[in-house]
Amino acid sequence: MEEERKQSNFIHDIIDKELAEGINTRVQTRFPPEPNGYLHIGHAKSICLNFSTAEKYHGTCNVRFDDSNPEKEDNEYVNAILEDIKWLGYKWDHVYYASDYFDFVYECAVKLIKKGKAYVDDSTADEIRQMRGTLTEPGVNSPYRDRTVEENLSLFERMKNGEFAEGSHVLRAKIDMSSPNIVMRDPVIYRIKYVTHQRTGDKWCIYPMYDFVHPLSDAKEKVTYSLCTLEFENNREVYNWFINEIGFDEPPRQIEFARLNLNYCVTSKRRSLKLVNEGYVDGWDDPRMSTICGMRRRGYPAKAIRDFVEKVGISKANSVVDYGLLESCVRDCLNDSAPRAMAVLDPLKLVVDNFPEGKYDEFTVENHPDHPELGSRTVRFGRNLFIERSDFEVNPPKKYFRLFPGNEVRMKGAYFVKCVSYDTDENGKVTAVHCTYDPETRGGESPDGRKVKGTIHFVNADDCFAAEVRLYDRLFNVENPTDESKGDFTQNVNPDSLKVVTALIENGIKDAKPGDVFQFMRQGYFCFDKNSTCEKPIINRTVELKSKWKAK
Ligand code: ATP
Ligand code: MG
Repeated sequence: MEEERKQSNFIHDIIDKELAEGINTRVQTRFPPEPNGYLHIGHAKSICLNFSTAEKYHGTCNVRFDDSNPEKEDNEYVNAILEDIKWLGYKWDHVYYASDYFDFVYECAVKLIKKGKAYVDDSTADEIRQMRGTLTEPGVNSPYRDRTVEENLSLFERMKNGEFAEGSHVLRAKIDMSSPNIVMRDPVIYRIKYVTHQRTGDKWCIYPMYDFVHPLSDAKEKVTYSLCTLEFENNREVYNWFINEIGFDEPPRQIEFARLNLNYCVTSKRRSLKLVNEGYVDGWDDPRMSTICGMRRRGYPAKAIRDFVEKVGISKANSVVDYGLLESCVRDCLNDSAPRAMAVLDPLKLVVDNFPEGKYDEFTVENHPDHPELGSRTVRFGRNLFIERSDFEVNPPKKYFRLFPGNEVRMKGAYFVKCVSYDTDENGKVTAVHCTYDPETRGGESPDGRKVKGTIHFVNADDCFAAEVRLYDRLFNVENPTDESKGDFTQNVNPDSLKVVTALIENGIKDAKPGDVFQFMRQGYFCFDKNSTCEKPIINRTVELKSKWKAK
């Protein structure tokens, strides 16, 4: 992915400097997801940053599942996460699991105890919280803080052996209860949990805390740059403390960057899970979700997501990015790659009165105006066509250049037609429009230089197929759906985020496969759904050609 390697950022500046000074001689990063949900667009930023940094410096990037909390994790998520990373276009060197290091992490804890740097605390969770102090007041030492090394070793071993109840004992690092950084006030590093782990089974009944297992995993893998989001800034001090106390030849360096926040959507696994569980959407890969699998199903190209992340850039300042920027990256990508086709989403019959019944005329049209290599297809013009209902008006407003009685328009790529009359039902609803075509205008140009102002798309009634088209729009209709001062975020779900219509599509694309994306002329980009079949085609609207949402 040469095109994406050029851009620099403050992290790359740090790396350049450290490589130049010989502090590091190589670059190794990692993407460390917790397998407790599907990845979302925010994770894409971290994935792109970690993998493209490794690529830029000819280093390596691994995936490490942070599976140290057995309660919320699931193998379904592990597979989905790997699939998403692959789809985004990245290759890892290894897939690691924090749980593979549980023996090592346990040994590190024993080492800390032996150094007098960790102790077993019998206080309850509440007591520990109370003794921790506040931002303005120092904490208080636990009465168990001065246990001897022998006593601590024995108690920790008994914790491991399952001799104590959950919550009765924890292992804490012995750092500084009066540190201005609360994270340094003797953080808990191990707790008892009688929970079966999806990988280690019942081998362990004590599990290490994230702040302990994360730096040790980085160091064990010889990660050089541990890139994480800003909320871990306060944890850097404890990260470094553990690395120093255990002692590593090549200590990793943690660098924080701003997380990606996007308006009009939620980027949190917890909230995504709620949308799924409470039926607001049809699963994690519902095309309205800001999950990577949802965007994939909707037809967003991986390249558009990478371009988007690149445009947002890497900085230390938190901000909210406009969803329109992502949509414009999707349009730019698809404008270049998607073949064109004609589809009528709200069909209205158009009868060409002077065209003979049972006959048709064929036109060869290019699939893409800029890419002849995408080939061409045949479009048929005949007596019975369908046009978009909105392309006809009985009483046209000013500046309406499409069909109305007496007006002439160009049928895309075919002929000029002039509206002569229309039929209505008993309620006055238009049921068909009649026109005549001018055989001299074949190809859409008139030999006498006559101009028409409107060009409309159509399908031929004999050469089209019906498809269920899902017109997706943004899932939330407010910029900040998680502003809970206005109630639960689910109240902000856009009631018009999905509208289903039966559309008529030109036969030229009837063999499209799930995942294929087209530009339906004058409408937008559309993607054949993963459940689409030839018998029952289902097509998702990826994005409209023009957004009706106000740009920020
Ligand atoms: P969530 O809040 O959705 O549960 P998380 O941070 O708990 O997200 P993890 O699986 O722990 O999810 O995240 C894996 C990596 O992705 C971490 O390094 C994390 O910092 C990064 N990440 C998560 N959300 C974002 C975001 N919005 N922008 C950038 N990076 C993110
Ligand atoms: Mg997390």
